[in-house]
Amino acid sequence: MASGSVDVTYRGIFQKILAGNIVKTLVKASRHSGKIGGTISRYSDSPERNGIPAKQFAVIAESQDELHVEMAKYEPDNIRLIAALDDTLAKGHESWAWYGIRPIHLGLREGGALLVVSEHERAKLLEFIPRLPFEWRLAILPGEKSFSGLWVYHDDGTEFRVLGAIARLIPEVVGLEELEKEVGKGPKAEQHLDWLRQGYREVQVGTVPAGVGAPNTYEPVKLPEWTEMAEAIIVPAAPRGGRQEAFKKFTTRSERPVIDFDVCTQCKQCFVECPDSVFELTPEGYYNPEYEACCGCGICAEVCPVDDCIVMVDELAFADNRDLYEEWKADRAAYRQFFQGLLERERVTARSSRRKVSA
Ligand code: SF4
Ligand code: SF4
Repeated sequence: MASGSVDVTYRGIFQKILAGNIVKTLVKASRHSGKIGGTISRYSDSPERNGIPAKQFAVIAESQDELHVEMAKYEPDNIRLIAALDDTLAKGHESWAWYGIRPIHLGLREGGALLVVSEHERAKLLEFIPRLPFEWRLAILPGEKSFSGLWVYHDDGTEFRVLGAIARLIPEVVGLEELEKEVGKGPKAEQHLDWLRQGYREVQVGTVPAGVGAPNTYEPVKLPEWTEMAEAIIVPAAPRGGRQEAFKKFTTRSERPVIDFDVCTQCKQCFVECPDSVFELTPEGYYNPEYEACCGCGICAEVCPVDDCIVMVDELAFADNRDLYEEWKADRAAYRQFFQGLLERERVTARSSRRKVSA
């Protein structure tokens, strides 16, 4: 048996209850084998907003002293497993209050596991997850993102399937037997136990050798010392007619709007309704999203009156925030092919309302 921490990285606020339930159940289950534990939650920005990457930790220890040491850190660093509840977090997430983007597996120890709930294959995820100097494990729990609601928890099995997968990956910290004892006590126990065992069986796990993965282009994030922090919580206003450069939105996004400029009527609805003033007016009269500022809320796709003009596309279809309008202008035939390809291949959400396309 061993101690260690589990980091559950999720999208606030949609997955907050889901993440909280997972860490609490891990700590309670660890008591069945004589361990003790605690949970820590924190989010990157303030306040916790829709889609923002956030974390909760289960810290599991074999003694009070060990627990106190780990709980007293800025963040736990004896991380045996990181569970990402949304696979688009593989593109990295902002650190506290925008001091820069951090890789999804930051803090993972050698041999540790990154568990991702995803419908994608391992190779696709490794296009985004940077290489590490040691061997680690990438585990995929097949499934859709569970954005189980802001204020109402949707008991769809994700919580228990993730717990089952964790038991398979780090049995030395929390095993299936302990989790069965804990989950078996609650309401709807039979259903929850089924899901727990399903996650245990279905998780796909493989090792990732040292040096395999995307190039590591992340700049180390330097968090301020307490003497360097501004007094109180200060969010400077965006300059008139501009954006707040310190608060980019794109890591909150699991989908992005893509526009078919060939059918756009320049009606301006997207520009008017976008809550983050993302659209720039082009000299030709089109409205072009600045992707660094887009949080992926999908409102523009909802309000666009033209069928299949704005579609919301899985964020993992893109490696960067490049300007798609410029691509359309440079080669319209190639852009048409690209757009049709997105419609056919990529999963487009129901928020695009006109059409839902499956991968
Ligand atoms: S998804 Fe559309 S409406 Fe929402 S922030 Fe992005 S551009 Fe604006
Ligand atoms: S709402 Fe649709 S049709 Fe209207 S300007 Fe925006 S993209 Fe074009």
